Amino acid sequence: MTDKPYEPLRPKKGPIGELLAPVAGFGVTFSAMFKPTVTEQYPRKKTAPPKRYHGRHQLNRYPDGLEKCIGCELCAWACPADAIYVEGGDNADLPDGAHMSPGERYGRVYQINYLRCIFCGLCIEACPTRALTMTNDYELAGPTRAGMIYEKQDLLAPLAEGMLAAPHPMVEGTTDTEYYRGEVTGPTREQVEWVRTHRPDDPTLDAAADVADGKAPPPTPRKHELRPSQDRAEATRAAATRSNVDARTETQGATGVALTPGGRA
Ligand code: SF4
Repeated sequence: MTDKPYEPLRPKKGPIGELLAPVAGFGVTFSAMFKPTVTEQYPRKKTAPPKRYHGRHQLNRYPDGLEKCIGCELCAWACPADAIYVEGGDNADLPDGAHMSPGERYGRVYQINYLRCIFCGLCIEACPTRALTMTNDYELAGPTRAGMIYEKQDLLAPLAEGMLAAPHPMVEGTTDTEYYRGEVTGPTREQVEWVRTHRPDDPTLDAAADVADGKAPPPTPRKHELRPSQDRAEATRAAATRSNVDARTETQGATGVALTPGGRA
């Protein structure tokens, strides 16, 4: 090895450059003073994240209101953080030919623990029916641990106008294949009549009947959105309501009753 003296790769500054070097960094600060501010006024003003952002999960529905989840548990097996718990149920066990989802099985219990979830999206890739997708909702904080376990009713996509709430029979003459292919576009008259017989007070009946009779267009699936912006007083009231619900939830959890967190629509 030769004892070659160290030579910096960058050219050495002249005497004036050396003199100004300590204050040169302030040029960046100074120029930033004239640029527009980028501070987000969250939570009073909410900014939508990029379209492919991995946020809160959603369990989707078919246009007639049946659930897409078949309780296969592939999402739970794919989850590297063990955040998903699924128990399947048999549609055959439901009375009078009712179905929660097309085919033999449905997701009877579905939980995602958002204290464990790392939002990697592997569950989405694993799902064979596109039942599970992710929305752009990033507001997933909560005051209690139990409240961060989202149950099926929290994760199910909201019923769109014209969809018929499950359970009810599948569209006559179809199998799960027709559902997967997108050939079911809305509830039928037979499904509406079935629900009218078994749940005459169901609030989705009238809108579904209009779709079945061709008086209204087929339903467009909805998804969970960010809650609208609130002013400070409104946000405080909403947080207090959520704490009460979560406290109730913890009590129910301790007594073994199914957790039913609310206030997350
Ligand atoms: S969400 Fe998809 S992968 Fe998970 S249990 Fe339901 S159908 Fe199976």
